[in-house]
Amino acid sequence: MTYSTLLFDLDHTLLDSVESERLAFEAALAAAGIARPFDYFSVYSRINRALWAAVERQEIVPDDVRVTRFEQLVDQTDLDADPVALADELVAGLGAYGQLYPGSRDVLDSLKGTVALAMVTNGIGEVQRARIERLDLEGYFGAIAISGELGTSKPGTDIFDFVFEALGFPSKGGTLMIGDSLASDIQGGNNFGIATCWYNPDGQPAGSGVRFTHEIGSLREVLDLTVVR
Ligand SMILES: [Mg+2]
Repeated sequence: MTYSTLLFDLDHTLLDSVESERLAFEAALAAAGIARPFDYFSVYSRINRALWAAVERQEIVPDDVRVTRFEQLVDQTDLDADPVALADELVAGLGAYGQLYPGSRDVLDSLKGTVALAMVTNGIGEVQRARIERLDLEGYFGAIAISGELGTSKPGTDIFDFVFEALGFPSKGGTLMIGDSLASDIQGGNNFGIATCWYNPDGQPAGSGVRFTHEIGSLREVLDLTVVR
């Protein structure tokens, strides 16, 4: 099967979100006068992951994550700072820091003009829009769906309905969802009835029983799944 419409996740798929998050977290706590920001990072990461998992379960929306993660961090540690101020600084930093993985832009350049591309991302609108603008990504994509703007997230199907309408209703059979998350990207593609490609650069075991159509360890392998070559 070759695909003519590709839907890309952003975080941990095209973008090095680990680097972005570390730099933004350090800057946010430094701005609040906290001397050793990284003493709090592992607790923060656990809280943040749990909240985004709740977004995937449709229990909360992305904008709920923004302040709640810092309210919980202040509750669970000795951190003495204003959660709202930390949240505002973090959102600014997430937009301002972090780069695409090496090779991501080459893949997008190879695909642009030969297949239809869309971005489907679970995230806060302000963060993702700042990243898209700073990294000059908008021109690659015929549609950009950000869960925080739409009020609906992967693995739900409404976000895919939005993308399909924006792309002019491409064939489902020729469409591939590419992302690193089995719970949101792959389950979302399965729910919507399109093929899926699990981006698994670290060779993690799939576990969990979520089915996927393809698995790749390098984003360049996407080129072999399209009509480009
Ligand atoms: Mg991701």
